Amino acid sequence: MRTIYLDNNATTPVLPAVFEAMRPFLTEHFGNPSSPHHMGDKPASAIRDARVKVASLLGCADTEIVFTSCGTESNNIAIRGTLEMNRERRHIITTAVEHSAVLNPVKRYASLGCDVTVLAVDRAGRLSLDALRDALRDDTALVSVMFANNETGVIFPIDRIAEIAHARGVPVHVDAVQGAGKVPMDVKTLGADFVALSGHKLHGPKGVGALYIRKGTKWAPVFLGGSQERGRRPGTENAAGIVALGAACEHGAQTLVRYHSDVRALRDRLEKELLARVTDSFVNGVASERLPHTSNIGFLGIDGNAMLVLLDEVGICVSAGSACKSGAGLPSHVLGAMGLSPEEAASCLRFSLSSLTTPADIDACLEHVPAIVERMRRNFISA
Ligand code: PLP
Repeated sequence: MRTIYLDNNATTPVLPAVFEAMRPFLTEHFGNPSSPHHMGDKPASAIRDARVKVASLLGCADTEIVFTSCGTESNNIAIRGTLEMNRERRHIITTAVEHSAVLNPVKRYASLGCDVTVLAVDRAGRLSLDALRDALRDDTALVSVMFANNETGVIFPIDRIAEIAHARGVPVHVDAVQGAGKVPMDVKTLGADFVALSGHKLHGPKGVGALYIRKGTKWAPVFLGGSQERGRRPGTENAAGIVALGAACEHGAQTLVRYHSDVRALRDRLEKELLARVTDSFVNGVASERLPHTSNIGFLGIDGNAMLVLLDEVGICVSAGSACKSGAGLPSHVLGAMGLSPEEAASCLRFSLSSLTTPADIDACLEHVPAIVERMRRNFISA
């Protein structure tokens, strides 16, 4: 059975070129990048090169990039590092549709006595900038918002959010784990102070991430240890992972155009055809600006988790909600925040494409999805 992998927001395959770039740092160039002898040289210089590549994807200085172990860590460092530094500021603003890698650290600070404002979204997944303006206070420590939603692909207007927050002297953290390498992301245009990335979402390996920290931003390191990453994130560097992240970012920069054109066209065809072939189906966030490779589609009356299993039986991998939450049996907090009823939310599946998705993958989906929905609806009605 051929695998049709349409779950790239959960994770992406490591590209062969990325794997080849990292391989020597798992084998012959295994030295510790901090070692003063020659075995440290290659890993140290490869890390320098990788930092330049990551910085180039974001349009920042290489000195503004800190390597981490994943997107979750990058988010935690930004949030915790800001709150540790600004102890007189005890108010955080975030949104109702953030990933748990932001919601849970924020919840922790709420339990420690911080005030948290959670901004609502509308049916299209959009934020109200007026609500943000109203929420900002003199003691607001941080605005933490995602670049694009992992479930719906809805993109937030980070440049405008940053402008509003900065006008009140409040720094902005952006969870850009979904979006980096898919759409252009220049930190100067975004205006954010922290931008979190994750290797495995853009064809790098799991276990490596990065955090952009704008020069001059006030924050304190969360981990304390050696002088790696100039003390900003101590711990012996994952040289192989970092090299791979650099290669993945380089590849990401080269494939932005394909995401804008080919991948978007495949996603749009998938949506258009599914809506035409399946009655009572709808696309979440369709009225908003969205990532070009993400589609969240509801099939009324269907249980998305059951449908996911039936699709898997024919080789199609998609997801119902966030991969980190699947198995928990919880309705999507993102779709709930957009105003969907629990039944509507439970009927939704996320299809996330990549630059490796082919027209044949979409054809297979268009063949199987309507047939499975029809079968499920028939069985349900006759049950
Ligand atoms: N933020 C978002 C929006 C995500 O989609 C994910 C992963 O799904 C994360 C953060 C966590 O990234 P990582 O798996 O690298 O910790």
